[in-house]
Amino acid sequence: MNEIESRILELREIINKHNHNYYNLDKNLISDFDYDKLLDELINLESRYPEYFDENSPSNRVGGGLSDKFNSESHIYQMYSLDNTYSNEELESWYARASKILDTDDFEFCCELKYDGASVNLLYENGKLLRALTRGDGTQGDNITNNIKTIRSVPLNIDNSFLKKFEIRGEIIILNDSFKQLNRKREELGEPIFKNPRNTASGSIKLLDSNEVARRPLQCFLYSIVSDEVKMKSHSELLNIARDMGFDVPKYEKVVDGLDGVKEYINYWDKNRSSLPFEIDGIVIKVNYIDFQKKLGFTSKFPRWAIAYKYKAENLVTKLNSISFNVGRTGAITPVANLEPVLISGSTVKRASLHSFDQMMKLRLRVNDSVYVEKGGEIIPKITGIDIENRGSKYDEIKFPTNCPECNSELVKLDSEANFFCPNVKDCSPQAIGRIQHFVSRKAMNIDGLGDETIKLLYHKGYLKDISDIFDLDYDSISLIQGHADKSAENLKMGVENSKSKPFQKVLYGLGIRYVGESASKKIIKKIKSIDELMNMSIESLSEIDEIGEKTAVSIKEFFQDEDNRDLITRLKSAGLVFIDNSKTDISSSLSNLTFVISGVFEMHTREEIKNLIEINGGKISTSISSKTSYLVAGSNLGSTKYAKANNLGVPIINEVSLIDLIS
Ligand code: AMP
Ligand code: ZN
Repeated sequence: MNEIESRILELREIINKHNHNYYNLDKNLISDFDYDKLLDELINLESRYPEYFDENSPSNRVGGGLSDKFNSESHIYQMYSLDNTYSNEELESWYARASKILDTDDFEFCCELKYDGASVNLLYENGKLLRALTRGDGTQGDNITNNIKTIRSVPLNIDNSFLKKFEIRGEIIILNDSFKQLNRKREELGEPIFKNPRNTASGSIKLLDSNEVARRPLQCFLYSIVSDEVKMKSHSELLNIARDMGFDVPKYEKVVDGLDGVKEYINYWDKNRSSLPFEIDGIVIKVNYIDFQKKLGFTSKFPRWAIAYKYKAENLVTKLNSISFNVGRTGAITPVANLEPVLISGSTVKRASLHSFDQMMKLRLRVNDSVYVEKGGEIIPKITGIDIENRGSKYDEIKFPTNCPECNSELVKLDSEANFFCPNVKDCSPQAIGRIQHFVSRKAMNIDGLGDETIKLLYHKGYLKDISDIFDLDYDSISLIQGHADKSAENLKMGVENSKSKPFQKVLYGLGIRYVGESASKKIIKKIKSIDELMNMSIESLSEIDEIGEKTAVSIKEFFQDEDNRDLITRLKSAGLVFIDNSKTDISSSLSNLTFVISGVFEMHTREEIKNLIEINGGKISTSISSKTSYLVAGSNLGSTKYAKANNLGVPIINEVSLIDLIS
């Protein structure tokens, strides 16, 4: 084997290992930057030396481009669906039927969560992923291999000592948190948001553009192995073998004896399912012994050895008392339903979201209507319909206001938005207060000592009209405000002082420009050096920035065209806030004679940028901590040995913000 080939193989192995650590074991042992560097090196070598092509190389995970259609292929073993039940009686009669066939009522069940996504069937042979099919009609499915390869927790190569050839079935899902994040990103880009994780997951695996699939945060949870070679005694053993082979098999299954254990599992997850990081629509009960499964066999549609217990949609009827119209930070008016309190899956629901004007108008709600309220997992309860038999009087239809409920300005609606807006951006109090609250919030300037309620109070007393007032607060008068003790004024003073060293990216995000969220501000900072540069950019050049759509570009331009906003920036500049990207400033010698060790993963800079920053300012980098080390620059995931060593030698540990402080 020559040097090139062995390097390619080595890179593939290292990257596969990092994927497995990160996606299956939740261990992050490498920075994004270093990971990308390895991947780039691999992609580069593979394109220069196509003779070493391997379709299961981890480089294929970034998406294999566009297909014009999916091929339909046959499953080796039929993919059955599951018989459903909603009640204990049906569960008992299923158990009775199985006991009769098996001639015993003494057997184990393996209870599992029923993941709510789209099913997939993976085929492995000799340690390689050969293909992935959708369930289709159970006999044939679509070949979606290129899409499934983009899911990093799906191993492309496995240890084949357990089984040579097998199908492994699973569910493609999106975690609730990833789903929210995905929608936040889409909102920033001005793209329509997705409705729920389930539909997004099943829609995503059927996209013809696998590069787009690679951008969707999909996961693949596995739940069963089918193969002629299976020698194992039980289904639960098979799940463990799947784990050993490197598959993502969530650890929620429980092996129980008899039906009481099954019922306990059902009840437990009925109560606790909202605490799961993903959505389930029920649980699956499987007879655990493979021999018993064989004896029970299949009907034309379902296995007789398994059944799904589905949770009832948590859907109840209650009375609508009124609708409030909330004004958000961006001026969007959102209708919120005030309900006759009702208990849904363990918590009292009094309010439900109606999301938007468009949605409210579809329902044409009246006071006293009986409405269906649904609470799905982690999501805020929502109204899904009206009981038409029990409607309020038609004279009580609730109208959408024409004027702002807070400042009475006439509302406006843009075609591209589902909501009405209050155009009185400057003086409508919830908007003005919301902007200040956003600016001090944890993810922006993180100013301690200025809580939401204090901001409201100070705003209404006239001490705090916009964010620049934060830096001219009259602390003596604040101390006099009832309930605001000296100590909290002290605290606030310190919080305000500290915020002056917050990096440019946090300041930019804190300004609250519409559609410029956290990730957009990161992308912008990558491209520009200072706020002045940003203020002078055209819509065209703004749109050229990665992830900045036309809508966001227009919003940025409009923000800076406003005279008041430009004044605001001037005032914030003279207050001493950071409006330039320090990492791109000129060379200094402020760090000469200092030696740094860098460790961990950083938020605002890549590790390479931190290294650069230190070096261009005269500092030295060392890889290990000694008595000569001046500072340990630490990000998250700092190794415990490095931490202990720094502490022992009395080496100060600083973060990336303090490093920039040190430079300036
Ligand atoms: P249904 O779609 O209602 O027929 O239910 C059958 C589907 O449930 C299967 O095709 C799987 O995609 C899905 N499912 C989710 N979790 C599991 C699990 N733990 N075991 C078996 N099937 C599951
Ligand atoms: Zn208003």
